[in-house]
Amino acid sequence: MTRQYLSVRVGAVVLDIEGTTGSISHVRDVLFPYARKRIASWMRENRSSTEHLGIMHSLRDLTGTADLSEEAAITVLHGWADHDVKAAPLKTLQGWIWARGYATGELSGHVYPDVPEALSRWEEQGIACYIYSSGSESAQREWFSHTAYGDLTRRLSGYYDLTSAGPKFEPLSYETISTNIGMPGKQILFASDVAEELNGARDAGWHTVAVRRQDDERGADVPGHPVITSFDDLHLDVSAE
Ligand SMILES: [Mg+2]
Repeated sequence: MTRQYLSVRVGAVVLDIEGTTGSISHVRDVLFPYARKRIASWMRENRSSTEHLGIMHSLRDLTGTADLSEEAAITVLHGWADHDVKAAPLKTLQGWIWARGYATGELSGHVYPDVPEALSRWEEQGIACYIYSSGSESAQREWFSHTAYGDLTRRLSGYYDLTSAGPKFEPLSYETISTNIGMPGKQILFASDVAEELNGARDAGWHTVAVRRQDDERGADVPGHPVITSFDDLHLDVSAE
C-alpha cells in the first residue's frame, strides 16, 4: 500500500480505541471473555450495593420488566455480552470488572507503538487529545492507565462514552462533544476504524481520518475518508482560531 501522509489543522483530536489506538482482537479475545466470565459472580458478590442497584435499575428500564430478578438480569447481560450489544449497563459493569483486573495486574490496555509518540507530539504542539469509545469512561481510563508504555492518561484531556456523548454513529453525539470541549467541529479531528462513526463526525462538521491497522482484515479502503495505517502518517498543525 502506498503510504499516505495526511496534514490537518486542528485544535483538538478525538480518538476511538478499538481498532484505532489498540487492537480489536485484544478486546474480543482478552477483555470481553474476562468480563463475561465474571458477570454472574460480580452480581452476586455486590448484591445490594449502589452499583448493583444502578445496574438492576437500568436493566429493568431497558427491558421494560419492572420485576426483573437478578438471575434474569444475569441472563440478559450474558446475552448482550455474547452478541457484543453496546448497552450502557453492560458497558458499565464490564468497566468495573476490568478495573479490578487492571488493579490486580491481570489485565493491561493494548496500545500500538505509534500512539504514545503521537500523544507526546500533540501535547508539545498544544493540541488537546480526547477519547471517545463505547467502552465506559472508567474502562477507558483504566485502559490508558495500564499500558505497556506506562500510564498515558497524563496526555489525555478527557473521555467520552455512550452515556456522556451518545451513540457513535449519530452526528448529535459529536456536537455534544464539541460543545463540551468548547471548540467548533471544524477545529476537531476524529480518528476511528469504523466508517459509520466517521460519517457521524463528518456530518457534525468535524475533520475525520480513518485508521486501518496493517493487521486489519477489512483492508485500507474507507469511502469518504482519508485512511492511515499508523499515527506516524498523520501530521497535525495547530489551528490558529
Ligand atoms: Mg473502533
